[in-house]
Amino acid sequence: MVNRRSVLVAGTLLAASARFPALAAAPSRQLTAAQESRIAALVAAMTLDEKLGQMTQIAGGRQIALNSRLDAAALDRVRAGQVGSFLHVAGAEPLLALQRVAVEESRLGIPLLFAMDVVHGYRTIFPVPLAMAASFDPDVARQASRVAAVESSVSGLHWTFAPMIDIARDARWGRVVEGAGEDPYLGARIAVAQIEGFQTADLDNPDAMLACAKHIGAYGAAIGGRDYDSAELSERTLRETYLAPFHAASHAGVGTMMTAFNDLAGVPTTGNADLVRGILRREWGYQGLVVSDWNAILELMAHGAAATPAEAAALALRASVDMDMTSDTYADHLGTAVAADPTLLPLVDEAVGRILAAKARLGLFDDPFRFGDAARERVVLGSAEHRAAARRAAQRSIVLLRNEGEVLPIAPGRRIALIGALADDASSTLGSWRARGRAEESVTLRQALGEAGNVDYISGAEPRSDDTSGIAAAVAAADRADVVVVALGEDYDYSGEARSRSDITLPGAQTALIEALRATGKPIVAVLMNGRPLALEDALADIPAVVETWFLGNESGHAIADVLLGRISPAGRLPMGIPRRSGQMPMFYAHPPTGRPANPDLAVDSARYRDVDIGPLFPFGHGLSYSRFAYSGLQVAAQDAGDAARYVVALNVRNTGTVAADEVVQLYVRAPVAGLARPVKELRGFARVPLAPGQSRRVTFMLGSDQFAHWDDGWKVAAGDVDIMVGSSSEDIRQTAMLTVPRSYALADGAMAGAALSTDVTIG
Ligand code: BGC
Repeated sequence: MVNRRSVLVAGTLLAASARFPALAAAPSRQLTAAQESRIAALVAAMTLDEKLGQMTQIAGGRQIALNSRLDAAALDRVRAGQVGSFLHVAGAEPLLALQRVAVEESRLGIPLLFAMDVVHGYRTIFPVPLAMAASFDPDVARQASRVAAVESSVSGLHWTFAPMIDIARDARWGRVVEGAGEDPYLGARIAVAQIEGFQTADLDNPDAMLACAKHIGAYGAAIGGRDYDSAELSERTLRETYLAPFHAASHAGVGTMMTAFNDLAGVPTTGNADLVRGILRREWGYQGLVVSDWNAILELMAHGAAATPAEAAALALRASVDMDMTSDTYADHLGTAVAADPTLLPLVDEAVGRILAAKARLGLFDDPFRFGDAARERVVLGSAEHRAAARRAAQRSIVLLRNEGEVLPIAPGRRIALIGALADDASSTLGSWRARGRAEESVTLRQALGEAGNVDYISGAEPRSDDTSGIAAAVAAADRADVVVVALGEDYDYSGEARSRSDITLPGAQTALIEALRATGKPIVAVLMNGRPLALEDALADIPAVVETWFLGNESGHAIADVLLGRISPAGRLPMGIPRRSGQMPMFYAHPPTGRPANPDLAVDSARYRDVDIGPLFPFGHGLSYSRFAYSGLQVAAQDAGDAARYVVALNVRNTGTVAADEVVQLYVRAPVAGLARPVKELRGFARVPLAPGQSRRVTFMLGSDQFAHWDDGWKVAAGDVDIMVGSSSEDIRQTAMLTVPRSYALADGAMAGAALSTDVTIG
């Protein structure tokens, strides 16, 4: 075991890509006959209380105080077989000791599952998920999750509550930072890459961990962007947009899923049998473990869906929620419900079977102590190799939004005034969910630019304060400099769970700061740091250079300096459009056309605001480079005919500039006539293409007609034309073509369609 572990860990990053493809369409329950019969025997041997124990997850600590609740009472519950899993625990030594209690001191010796929110790194912190989606490079997300799993597993963890794959189209919602943004196709691709990174091709690998696709339902569609609020959606939008990444995750074999806190059209997700037992289990055939969100089973009462805890427990069980996160409703009340209604008992057995299957897939019945290794923990956590991967991920996540007059990159020898408290805020680099990340291990922009010399740093204004007294000193520093770099945005704690905002402009005195700096007439580079798109039309007026840097993790400062100083050319793209004003929310590029499309002429009645342009300040998919690219030679050819038709879309992209750079080629489709209004554009492919100066490459996308399907009480593909649009952003389409689907057809029940399906891309 020891040898195998070290071989795998050593080969982790290098061998990664070779190991991943095998995962495609891995079933979510892949057990040997021997494992299946072991589980059946265990279930047969268990008392009802022991079964409810397996279905119970308790907190071994708090997010900021891990292991703090591992007290005598918790250990007694383990001995009594009343606990199946712990969350908010970590560390090889404490977890091995805790596992020993379960295995050696409980009647059946069933090992525990140890879980934590390892979202964008465990000790080595990578960019926040929204930033990684901006890389438009699934390898970035895959590798970040791989490193996170290597570090977490050596620290004794089996299970992460990631990836969060909720589509988010309203930046007021604080949890946009945790997901991949507004688009279901991009969201599905990033989700699958994260799952592959966490789980590897085989959960039996000692540095693999169970992933958890969360929060199934439409948590990201919370009305008004208010966390936990209801979602109210048509089935079409639910299926085509919000569920697409979940279907892709299910197909990719994600080991677990989590239900959402909120209700969907009045039905709380944690008690939604149509959704979980119906769509997820029956239609998609998902056999993995489903866990509730924190306390959500008991909260079915607060929703008004259940009158008593026993009713709440029965509702969640009928919906096929296998494990109760922290509310103890299953432990304390499901027995009452079962006594009153024995038809629930087979559902209990089924749930326990799925929990034991997850443990078996991790190899815990063969060796309950296979995870966690204190000696290796000291070597692996935060290793130089992991930091290098984090820096690369951070570089690739940066989006150059504007660069007028080529203010960037900053030429050597220029005197830089670096302004803004966020430039020196190590804690904010870690963003929301930081696991065991340490702010003191982060490199800030101030430190990184300081290493380059010639930098005068002044805070000027803080995002959390209205105090303007520092602005005069910032202006004085700007006056002395050749170029001003100003960090603007939100403190890390402004986005994340329960961090919704109604006004998503710059908080604190930052608006006053940027106004004062603008008045100096110096060239300004605005470096945005935030967990959500902010409404920035006014703040960024006349600012020639703007760089979106999100929260980039431990290597934040280095990566930003790499871009500002031209050591690399940026190539990230926006996974959510950036609005002009807060009142534009919700906003997304893939909207259906109206009968009266927006017209700039206010005298014409059209779908626009009177007080602001209807479009975004920066659209989905937007991102500039230090180079330029030319598109040519778009060709579309059909292969095969009929339902299995596949279409080859190929084009040339050429680097016409003078520096090596990546171009993110984006493929959008639209059915102009489909019997109903289809979105004006939908992303169905992308490729991040590295190009040397002068180099030209041919990019080939292979589309299947199932990807054009729409939901109309079932997945249907309509005969007729499909517009193919290829370009550099959702609003910078460079070439167009058309293909024709010869015949209408319906897809089989449970088939994947639309955005959930992946487009093969080859780069010649
Ligand atoms: C969040 C989940 C998270 C869980 C455990 C909840 O409040 O909604 O995303 O996994 O806590 O920390």
